[in-house]
Amino acid sequence: MRPFIHQAAATRVVFGAGSLAHLERELDLLGLRRVLVLSTPGQSTAAQSLQQRLGPRCAGVFGRAVMHVPLGVAIEGVEAARTLRADGTLALGGGSTIGLAKAIALETGLPIVAVPTTYAGSEMTPIHGITDGGIKRTGRDARVLPRTVIYDPELSRDLPVGISVTSGMNAMAHAVEALYASDSTPMTDLMAEEGLRALAGALPVLRQRPRDETARSDALYGAWLCGAVLGQVAMALHHKLCHVLGGSFNLPHAEVHTVVLPQATAFNADAAPQAMARVARALGCSHAAQGLFDLARDNGAPVSLRALGMAEADLDRAADLAAAQPYANPRPVGPAQRDALRELLQRAWDGTRPD
Ligand code: NAD
Repeated sequence: MRPFIHQAAATRVVFGAGSLAHLERELDLLGLRRVLVLSTPGQSTAAQSLQQRLGPRCAGVFGRAVMHVPLGVAIEGVEAARTLRADGTLALGGGSTIGLAKAIALETGLPIVAVPTTYAGSEMTPIHGITDGGIKRTGRDARVLPRTVIYDPELSRDLPVGISVTSGMNAMAHAVEALYASDSTPMTDLMAEEGLRALAGALPVLRQRPRDETARSDALYGAWLCGAVLGQVAMALHHKLCHVLGGSFNLPHAEVHTVVLPQATAFNADAAPQAMARVARALGCSHAAQGLFDLARDNGAPVSLRALGMAEADLDRAADLAAAQPYANPRPVGPAQRDALRELLQRAWDGTRPD
């Protein structure tokens, strides 16, 4: 057995269909009496019904969460929390809403209860990010890790199929990179492989039957495991590329992850054979990168950056940004690998199935 350091996350996880029924008990356990409910504009109806249900235990609703936490929205959220004298936030939604809760926690220290409704995984990580002037700055801080996460598969029953698949692939990307992370542990390996298995099994079922209860539950279970490993180990090339593409070219988050994952996996394959074997085993296929590509393509998700509207002329600048500084990755990446990264990006733009 190799030496390792494993730090378990301190988040309490309440999982199960209908588990939002335990919300009041969970607020009691944290001593919260006036939570600010956060949502995107698209989920404001659900947020308002939570407000009605909580009555005086709800300080109000702030329903303006948007992708990548723009600084102005974060400032408004902090002001709302202070003006309404909230003692915590209740984030109902995906990574955008949970990201806003984290930005508020960073400034105010307010504890977060997260109720995720996508598979992005942000609820299990101490990673925060705020976008200012087109640049997203991220960091890690234990204060932004949600205290309690309520995973209720019934809340994702109406998540559109397209978002379900790309969001699930986003979660799987955390697990793939966890399997070759420099600081992985036997525990994170188990969690990552199980998360991949659960999502790879659930996504094709959701494509056919979006409201299938077992598949919704399996997908959310997989998302929990994938989010947990994202919070525990260092990510590498795939996440770096998605950060560049999402941040500098304003491409949609989950879709970019879906397109890049098979290509980044193929790029690293020879340098991480054990991780590839585990990914393939979890997907029930013989070739990890091809299995990921096929999972996306066969379930109607985009497989090319061209389909996301990226201009081919921007690939050179993306390669420059991705290669600007070296960072930990199974296969070396840095200025000396600029051309190899450019080739990877071309394959991602074309939507070429990995060899
Ligand atoms: P999102 O939160 O932006 O949600 C996408 C859309 O789906 C929104 O319009 C939302 O209102 C809607 N939606 C969410 N759940 C729904 C449901 N059950 N039914 C119907 N509609 C629903 O998307 P996301 O992919 O969850 O999050 C992306 C953001 O999260 C990015 O900014 C990304 O950087 C961040 N993220 C952060 C971390 C981290 O650890 N900090 C991890 C993953 C993602």
